[in-house]
Amino acid sequence: MIVVMEKDATDEQIQHMVERVQEMGLKAHVIQGTERTVIAAVGDERATKAEALESGPGVSKVLPILAPYKVASRELKPEPTQVQVGGFAAGAGVVGVIAGPCSVESEEQIMASAEAVKRAGATALRGGAFKPRTSPYSFQGMKEDGLKLLAQAREATGLAVVTEVMSSEEVDLVARYADVLQIGARNMQNYRLLEAVGKCHRAVLLKRGPSATVDEFLLAAEYILNEGNPNVMLCERGIRTFENHTRFTLPLATVTYLHKKTHLPVIIDPSHGTGHAYMVPDMAVAAVAAGADGLIIEVHPDPETAASDGYQSLNFEQFAATMQRCRRVAEAVDRRICAMDACAPA
Ligand code: PEP
Ligand code: MN
Repeated sequence: MIVVMEKDATDEQIQHMVERVQEMGLKAHVIQGTERTVIAAVGDERATKAEALESGPGVSKVLPILAPYKVASRELKPEPTQVQVGGFAAGAGVVGVIAGPCSVESEEQIMASAEAVKRAGATALRGGAFKPRTSPYSFQGMKEDGLKLLAQAREATGLAVVTEVMSSEEVDLVARYADVLQIGARNMQNYRLLEAVGKCHRAVLLKRGPSATVDEFLLAAEYILNEGNPNVMLCERGIRTFENHTRFTLPLATVTYLHKKTHLPVIIDPSHGTGHAYMVPDMAVAAVAAGADGLIIEVHPDPETAASDGYQSLNFEQFAATMQRCRRVAEAVDRRICAMDACAPA
């Protein structure tokens, strides 16, 4: 249910209604809109008489939320959410760019990558320290040493750090170093992990599972939001289809669908979405044209020698050229690429 408060509802009235919702055994999420405050009452509504809330003080009306996801839905929050972390922002007309290597490999590699992606205009640095690999014999990441190098790169450049957390036991460790916790595609339906990052105070980049529907993707986001973490970004990174000219199939229609259904920012990953470096620039530009709120792009000083995903990584020059094209397209579609120190919260 959505409890829509009157425009002039007082803080006491809002607090009173939050308590009423909680008394019914439901969770109350307060969403402050530009016009008015609404309270999402979520949980098992079967035994409750949520309609009765309509007679509460300062209440304008009580509406059902028809979508299976609640806090993620546009029905609840019509205004787009902007996620902002340090100099990085995504959503509400601002396109945030996250770039860096697939894996953190060495101090030289991550520092050079951080400097280069910053120079080209990215505001967040990616780099995996815990790597989910298809084979147990592939490079598994530098783990905590990798996290330390990412923190060192943030210190030197001011870029926000985005890195993957693979298990709920490691959330505290990764959150100590990272600004944004990435949930990998393979973990999209690891519900205990989603709850753990939902309880954490760090922003989350949730990747779509390669065989998950978009509605399952939104329900996965709902697990995080329902624990009280509002800073969730959805990342389309390609799905499994019969097609084999690309590593995965990158559906850009996801951007439009998600913008209709949710207020959360949508990030496109053209690197995993195509699996070929030569396709990445065009798909990055296309994503911006389609209205994506951000990009996450793999960039490596020497893609040929990368420990993981080198075949889909851009070198520094290719990334800088892609950023220039993205900036021009963003302007053409009335959006702007988030720039360092120029992304004020919405
Ligand atoms: C990655 O970002 O390097 C990665 C492993 O992505 P995904 O979870 O989308 O495969
Ligand atoms: Mn990768």
